Amino acid sequence: MRNESIPYKIYLSESEMPTAWYNLRADMKNKPAPLLNPGTHQPMQAEELAGVFCDELVKQELDNDTAYFDIPEEIRDFYKMFRPSPLIRAYRLEEKLGTPAKIYYKFEGNNTSGSHKLNSAIAQAYYAKKQGLKGVTTETGAGQWGTALSMACAYLDLDCKVYMVKCSYEQKPFRREVMRTYGASVTPSPSMETEVGKKILAEHPGTTGSLGCAISEAVEKAVTSEGYRYVLGSVLSQVLLHQSVIGLEAKTALDKYGIKPDIIIGCAGGGSNLGGLIAPFMGEKLRGEADYRFIAVEPASCPSLTRGVYAYDFCDTGMVCPLAKMYTLGSDFIPSANHAGGLRYHGMSSVLSQLYDDGLMEAVSVKQSEVFEAAEYFARTEGILPAPESSHAIRTAIDEAVKCKETGEEKTILFGLTGTGYFDMVAYEKFHDGKMEDYIPTDAELKISRDKLPKIDV
Ligand SMILES: *Cc1c(COP(=O)(O)O)cnc(C)c1O
Repeated sequence: MRNESIPYKIYLSESEMPTAWYNLRADMKNKPAPLLNPGTHQPMQAEELAGVFCDELVKQELDNDTAYFDIPEEIRDFYKMFRPSPLIRAYRLEEKLGTPAKIYYKFEGNNTSGSHKLNSAIAQAYYAKKQGLKGVTTETGAGQWGTALSMACAYLDLDCKVYMVKCSYEQKPFRREVMRTYGASVTPSPSMETEVGKKILAEHPGTTGSLGCAISEAVEKAVTSEGYRYVLGSVLSQVLLHQSVIGLEAKTALDKYGIKPDIIIGCAGGGSNLGGLIAPFMGEKLRGEADYRFIAVEPASCPSLTRGVYAYDFCDTGMVCPLAKMYTLGSDFIPSANHAGGLRYHGMSSVLSQLYDDGLMEAVSVKQSEVFEAAEYFARTEGILPAPESSHAIRTAIDEAVKCKETGEEKTILFGLTGTGYFDMVAYEKFHDGKMEDYIPTDAELKISRDKLPKIDV
């Protein structure tokens, strides 16, 4: 029911935007396990990481104690082009579902890159520029991260080299062209440009690539090119830190109207949007000030939290990156080729992995046909065409709202709508034509990549 005192969209003014990012790790009793050197298995030191990442980002990555990092004014100015993002009350969706639940979503798709990834892209590009670097390298899967980074690099006049997972490079030519419009160079991965790319192609000829493999190529390119560093769009703790703007804004907006969510839901690929959305709420839970239910939603075809193991693993297929302790399917895991719904990464942020292991967060997995059903339902009621990734969160938000209908509970649900789906119409087409299959890996299949996890004694 429409409550006249609560608008459809809760906007904040520029002056209400956060001036500092919140580092959830500062409030965690059990800190995420440290990154390990892949050769020595010792915790990575700042000097070792400095060859791969910009100095300021290394500091942010290793800092488990500082609760707030000031957002530099230049970054805040860039944010003002597309932030604060609206917090929307899904009145129409509630009405259509006939649920007593109150549903809110934080919409991050209001920028050309079409997702939340720009929040971290501008931060990472800014620190690279400030360090006097020439450029950055990265990987991109579906293309949102590459697009966000090219926008940020164009703005700051930095060179941007993107390794794009080959199947996406071929299936999403428009994404590729958007990146080139912003001046990035885009290479399909695996490529013959790097040693690791050549090795992967020799071992798996005809492979359509994976995120893990593209990461290896981008890292190799960065460490072998003078004046370049590598940047990553998810998984790392620094990315979760930057994405805390999502949660901080959402909390300010809800607090303005005295609204307290009962359930907070986000899709989880590498964990950055979810980690950012839940950050200030989880902080309250960790400090014993409030309680919330947090739900991570992942695809049934790439179920890192729900079916993976909590162990040290490589972040990439080429095994060049530091080892991270996380819920993982094994760095060798590549989701089935007919999986079209995004969120294809084999592992999960070590911050979220620790919170999940400590029982502070729940996780569910959903099948892609059900995800697209939810996406279409949402598009027809709320108007926004959601990204398939975001639609995982929509699916679970709807499921929770339907449960409220059955029990009559008036719960307040907040979910993250991470982006728009304009470049995902091939996947929508498959769904509309009834050609979308739900491939769920068997235990035996998952065991193959799990058996290849590195053996670490810590
Ligand atoms: C990249 C992406 C995701 C998943 O990444 P996380 O790091 O898990 O947030 C979700 N939604 C959209 C629209 C994306 O582009």
